[in-house]
Amino acid sequence: MKNFSNYNDFSRKEDLAFESRAIHGALGCEPITGAVSFPIYQTATFRHKALGQSTGFDYSRLQNPTRQELERTMAILENGMEGYALSSGQAANMALFTFLDPGDHVLLSDDIYGGTFRIGDDIFGKYGVNFEYVDMSDLEAVQKAMTPKTRMFFIETPTNPMMKVADIKALAELAHEAGALCVVDNTFLTPYFQRPIELGADVVVHSATKFIGGHNDTISGIVVVNRQDLADHMRLQLKSHGNGLDPFSSWLLLRGLKTLPLRMEKHNENGMKVANWLRTHPRVEKVYYAGFEDHKDYATMCKQASGFGSMISFTVDSVETVERTLANVDMIYFAESLGGTETLITYPMTQTHESIPADIREKLGITDRFLRLSVGLENVDDIIRDLNRALG
Ligand SMILES: *Cc1c(COP(=O)(O)O)cnc(C)c1O
Repeated sequence: MKNFSNYNDFSRKEDLAFESRAIHGALGCEPITGAVSFPIYQTATFRHKALGQSTGFDYSRLQNPTRQELERTMAILENGMEGYALSSGQAANMALFTFLDPGDHVLLSDDIYGGTFRIGDDIFGKYGVNFEYVDMSDLEAVQKAMTPKTRMFFIETPTNPMMKVADIKALAELAHEAGALCVVDNTFLTPYFQRPIELGADVVVHSATKFIGGHNDTISGIVVVNRQDLADHMRLQLKSHGNGLDPFSSWLLLRGLKTLPLRMEKHNENGMKVANWLRTHPRVEKVYYAGFEDHKDYATMCKQASGFGSMISFTVDSVETVERTLANVDMIYFAESLGGTETLITYPMTQTHESIPADIREKLGITDRFLRLSVGLENVDDIIRDLNRALG
C-alpha cells in the first residue's frame, strides 16, 4: 500500500475492504510531502522543467492532482477502469450523451430525474438524437421499445421518484446483444450498496452532490467507465467542454467518501424506520420505498444491491395535507436535493420534476399529493416526531 514516490504509483488496494478503500483512496496521502489530508491544488497551471518534460500535470482544465485522486478513488470504488469528476451531475449526464451520434436512439427510465429529461428533449433532440422513455423494470417493454438504432440504455435504479427497480444484469445483456451501451445512474445507492459495472454496465454516473459528497454543500458529478474507447472520449470531452470539477470541491468529495460506508449504513437504517412508520400514518395513502418486502421488485433489489438507501416517496390524502406538511416541518427542511446529513422533503411536481410534461407526470403518479423524502442522519425519533406533527 505504500506510495511514497510519485503520482503514477498508486494502487487499487484490492486486498482491502470497501470501507478501507473509501478512506485510503488511490494515492491516499500525498506522495511528496506525505500530507495525510490530500492537498487542494489550487493552481491553474504547472511549471515544466524543460522542453518535453512534464510532471504529468500541465493545466488544471486537463488534469489536477486533487481531482485526479478523486477520479481514481471513484474508479476503485465502482470497480471500473477510469473515473471523471465533473462540475455537476447534469454536466456528467451531458457528457455521456455526447457518446451518441445524430440518428441514434436512447432508451431511458420513464420516471427519470427531471433534469435528465430536459437534456433529452431540449438539448440533444436538436442534434437528432432520439430519446424514448420506458419502464425499465419491465424487460418486455424494453425489448419492444428497442429499434435497430438503439445505442444506449440510460437506467436509474431505484428510480427518482417512483422507486421502481430495474434488473441491471439483464438489461446490460440486452443492451450488449444490440451493440448498445448500458449506463446506470447510481446516485441513490452509491457503490457502497450497488456496483453496476460488476453487474455488466459499461458506465456509472452520479450526481455526487448527493450521497457521495453527502453534506448538502457541493454540486458535482462523477462518471466511471469500463471501456478504453469510452475513457478516451471522456478525457476529450472534459478537455473540450472544460467541465472538470474544481480542486476545492474535489477535496470535499474525497472527504465525504471517507465516511460514505458509515453514512450509508445509517441512512439505510433511518430510511427503513421512517418508511415503515409512514405506512402506519392515517394521512399517508401509499409509500414508495425499495426496501419493502412487498415491493414488486424486492427480489431484484436484493439480488443486485446490499442496501436500500434512504429515498422514500409517498402520497397523502389531500393537497391541504401537502401544504400543511411543507409549511410545518421544522427540523426537516423543505428543500430540493437529497443524500445529505439533513433530512429534506421535496415536492416533485413543482421542484425536481417540473420539466416533465403534466400528462406523463400524471401517468407516473407524480400528482399534487405526492412528496419525496431524503432521510438524513439525525436521530430517527426526531425525524418521525417532526413528520408526525407536520402531517397533522
Ligand atoms: C440531482 C440529480 C441529478 C442532477 O445532479 P446535479 O448535481 O444537481 O447537477 C441527476 N440525476 C439524479 C438521479 C439526481 O438525483
